[in-house]
Amino acid sequence: MSNPLLHFSGLPKFSEILPEHISPAIDSLINEGRALVEALATSVETPTWDNFALFLENHSEKLGRAWSQIGHMNAVVNSPALREAYNDNLQKLTDFGSDLSQDERLYEKFKKIQTHASFRELSPAQQKIISNEVRDFKLGGAELAVEEKIRFKEINEALSKLSAKFEENILDNTNDFKHVVENLVDLTGLPEDVLETAKKAAKSDDKTGYQFSLHFPSYLPVLQYADNRVLRETLYRAYATRASEFGKPEWDNTQLISNILKLKQEESHMLGFNNFAELSLATKMADTPAEVTTFLDTLAKRAKPYAERDMQELVGHAKKLGIDDMQAWDVSYVSEKLREEKYAFSDQEVKQYFPEDKVLAGLFKVTEAIFGVQVRKASASLWHEDAAFYEICDAANKPMAYFYLDLYARNNKRGGAWMDECITRRKKANGIELPVAYLTCNFSAPVGNKPALFTHDEVQTMFHEFGHGLHHMLTQVDEYGVSGIKGVEWDAVELPSQFMENFCWEWEVIRLMTHHVDTGKQLPRELFDKMVAAKNFQAGMQTVRQIEFSLFDMRLHGDFDPNGALTPLDLIEQVRDEVAVVRPPKWNRFPNNFSHIFAGGYAAGYYSYKWAEVLSADAYSLFEELGVLSIEAGKRFKNEVLAQGGSRPALESFVAFRGREPSMDALLRHNGMAS
Ligand SMILES: [Zn+2]
Repeated sequence: MSNPLLHFSGLPKFSEILPEHISPAIDSLINEGRALVEALATSVETPTWDNFALFLENHSEKLGRAWSQIGHMNAVVNSPALREAYNDNLQKLTDFGSDLSQDERLYEKFKKIQTHASFRELSPAQQKIISNEVRDFKLGGAELAVEEKIRFKEINEALSKLSAKFEENILDNTNDFKHVVENLVDLTGLPEDVLETAKKAAKSDDKTGYQFSLHFPSYLPVLQYADNRVLRETLYRAYATRASEFGKPEWDNTQLISNILKLKQEESHMLGFNNFAELSLATKMADTPAEVTTFLDTLAKRAKPYAERDMQELVGHAKKLGIDDMQAWDVSYVSEKLREEKYAFSDQEVKQYFPEDKVLAGLFKVTEAIFGVQVRKASASLWHEDAAFYEICDAANKPMAYFYLDLYARNNKRGGAWMDECITRRKKANGIELPVAYLTCNFSAPVGNKPALFTHDEVQTMFHEFGHGLHHMLTQVDEYGVSGIKGVEWDAVELPSQFMENFCWEWEVIRLMTHHVDTGKQLPRELFDKMVAAKNFQAGMQTVRQIEFSLFDMRLHGDFDPNGALTPLDLIEQVRDEVAVVRPPKWNRFPNNFSHIFAGGYAAGYYSYKWAEVLSADAYSLFEELGVLSIEAGKRFKNEVLAQGGSRPALESFVAFRGREPSMDALLRHNGMAS
């Protein structure tokens, strides 16, 4: 066997994988999959876990493992040949996946297993996999009558076109807008690099002066720093009215919103739900739309006094700056001035205390202390000289997981930070397959003979992604489909990651992670205290803003009637009456730009951000009670949350760990909003 992608024992052979290996490997695995499905569908009379589900699991594991290596290399060492092979095969995989999810013969067999008396003899993980399969087939329309199925498919195709168009309209409108300022005197307050970029932008369009756009790196600094109020208003107005009736008719998203809502409602009715919010929650941790809106209302009530206080402070500061009638386009500007006055420190200053080796040692020390494991460097075939490989051993010094770490930004590497699954833990005939994770970041590489230095934000990112990694690596689940992060509800996935971030705000932890790159001194306590205070700057205002978006989303996909007299704009005004402290102008068309819910898969799911924050803060509060590095709390978190993966509902795992249902007290306290 010469194709390294078809090698399924041991670690991936990254140094041997070439673009020309991709298509043959994926073709062979998809053919194998299609043959397997035919054999199972036609020859298995009485389906069981062992003669049916296990074969499908085995196959998806192989396909998943091969594809994970390809996807990873495409992301971190991209090349034209790799990208082409990746895209070609992505389409084949999507087709294969959709054929599988439409195959009613498979659905019937999963149902047979679920309703057979022997179902109860399966392990909880096996039962969960079967139940998830039956649920997903149902939500995919498997129970609909023939003509309904045709309509269902039409709706889904129409929705995916509408979402794509929604996003394109915003992008086209964003790209189209250009605003030139001739004289530098009208641009005071803006940072040098922003001016430099604006000058270049003008020049490349054969203009003189400074050209600004609605793209974030241009738009945001103007709103934050430009002393010129008219300029701020001009850009704000253009930004807040994108893809609306105020611009080109062909880019107006108003009708698309209405069409999307109507189709989503029709689809949910076909599947037996009252509305799309119910359909969305069928696979989430939250049970009902009422549960989510109650959660948001309660959080709003508790956060609003703090939001009002933030707003008063802001209005007061605006007056000091000579702005007596603060408008939406002044908010970022005044906030920035207030922040500078209250917390005089820079990211650059903090960064000098966080060299790479100290940060990694600190992260591993926390992990070792609370979870009773050991982390150490190991060797493996790698895709780039900057990447490294580590193993995690249990208390008896036996390896239990591995991870790759690729920290620095470089050409041909996708931006951002993420954790991805390389190999998933499962029990096989010849023993346990150990889990392997990829942890990828885009931090600055070392310069000269100095080590790489991380901002405090980057340190948090590192802890966040490592938290996802621990969820994948410390799982004890034996079955592929619900092992690690697999099968974990969408609104609970960020629990372990956000949980880990908390340690970056703990003096006891941070103190030992710092070492000034020149002086060798620890981070001064006063600087740390300023960082903590700055973290909660305007936390009240930010919280109610997130609640405003979440409530709008939940009601729009819930009781709201897309055929009724009330428009989405009316609805968001109602929500603002209840929760908002910053009132945008009447011509603001925020819904027309809300890509998360109309184009990004967050429909009736935007609340997840706050939901997961509540879970992670509340989980962390046990460590505050029992000690920051409490072995007892760590053991419970490892056994009840991390080890369980998707093998049981996230709420059950949470309650088993915390001894009660989640409470929002810890989050409010962490944000400086304790009652
Ligand atoms: Zn995350």
